[in-house]
Amino acid sequence: MRCDVLAVGTELLLGQIVDTNSSWLGENLAMHGVDSLSQVKVGDNIGRITGHLRRMLGEADAVIMCGGLGPTHDDLTREAIADVMGVELHLDEDVADVIRHLFSSRNRTMPENNLRQAMVPEGATIIPQTRGTAPGLICPVTIETDAGPVERVVYAVPGVPHEMREMFERAILPDLQQRSGEQWTIASRTLRTWGESESGLNERLDHIIDELEEEGNPTLAFLASGWEGLKVRLTGRAPDEDSASALLAPWEERIRGVLGDQVFGVDSDTMESVVLDLLRSRGWTLGLAESVTGGLVSGRLTGVAGASEVMKGAVVSYASEVKFGVLDVTEGPVVTEEAAIEMAEGVRKVLGADVGLALTGVAGPSEQDGMRPGTLFAAVVLPEGEPDRVRSAHLRLPGDREMMRQLSVISALDLLRKRLLES
Ligand code: ATP
Repeated sequence: MRCDVLAVGTELLLGQIVDTNSSWLGENLAMHGVDSLSQVKVGDNIGRITGHLRRMLGEADAVIMCGGLGPTHDDLTREAIADVMGVELHLDEDVADVIRHLFSSRNRTMPENNLRQAMVPEGATIIPQTRGTAPGLICPVTIETDAGPVERVVYAVPGVPHEMREMFERAILPDLQQRSGEQWTIASRTLRTWGESESGLNERLDHIIDELEEEGNPTLAFLASGWEGLKVRLTGRAPDEDSASALLAPWEERIRGVLGDQVFGVDSDTMESVVLDLLRSRGWTLGLAESVTGGLVSGRLTGVAGASEVMKGAVVSYASEVKFGVLDVTEGPVVTEEAAIEMAEGVRKVLGADVGLALTGVAGPSEQDGMRPGTLFAAVVLPEGEPDRVRSAHLRLPGDREMMRQLSVISALDLLRKRLLES
């Protein structure tokens, strides 16, 4: 089954609006096993709209048109479809009633123009509107080809993205599936990773990616998401939910086999929820000493419901005097590994926590203590009596001030996670 997309609107050509509808439709058609091999943008001109629609119907089984269903004279999608179908438009009284009611329920007078939205090509089926005023349309079209007449279908949906998506899911997809006689369910599994760049992951998963590309189903995608980690998403389609999940399982196992403990969670897990669970399962509380991140780590951790069982508190020791006076750090340079360790030990004591986690570094733009922007020292100190209770790291993080601070959060939490996994 092939379904192409025709996005209508002069504003799309002028760059006033970015055509996100076509990319969303492309992604969602592909996920459901429908090919979308051509996507076109066209301005509000009846001749050009019908010209494109005719050409596209020569190649695709179906065309989704988005936009141009509004009430004004330059909303021409309905006229173009009627022209290509070779039929007239008629006023659909049911649709007109819904539009009239929408206005009267808001105590507003309806401009007569709005009834344009109730004009429907003969032979078309309506996709009832649930939010806006314009209904969508399903329009069967017979076109002449060298091999004789063939049946095609044109779908028209409003340009407003949330209305378009809702109608696609409610009406277009089921209709396409019914026409193609195929029904696919999509399952996806997102592995959350930390510790390697996108290209590094790509290289390590090289052979698996090659095999997946050959199979075509499931597919694999990387998504770098700042302090949410780098996501590795597997998406598979199959006739039903169980077989879609079963399709993903062996690939997930193989990917985990390569990436090992770089995978910190799946789907809705976050680095902070994982770290809190690890601490909780060991019966340990956490105290934080934050310098370069100024409270961001505490903010992320306390954003997780139930964090209070584990999280004792935090000292935002931004000024050196606070590190020396409150956390008992030895006077001297404060962007060092030693300072981070002393901060972690100090905050354990001050807050009476089992485990201390500390961050000190340079977010930039200028250097500090002779250290370049992007420098992070993080340290974890476990309860007394634990073997190898101190763990620290010196990292060089990329990006501007904001990105460096975000990456510091997830990097420090990852240091803690890895240390906890060993105990
Ligand atoms: P309505 O029936 O609600 O008036 P419509 O079908 O007439 O919608 P348009 O007038 O073409 O749609 O667009 C309405 C709004 O939808 C635009 O102002 C824009 O914000 C958004 N929009 C339209 N087309 C696209 C597109 N291809 N991608 C993303 N957004 C779009």
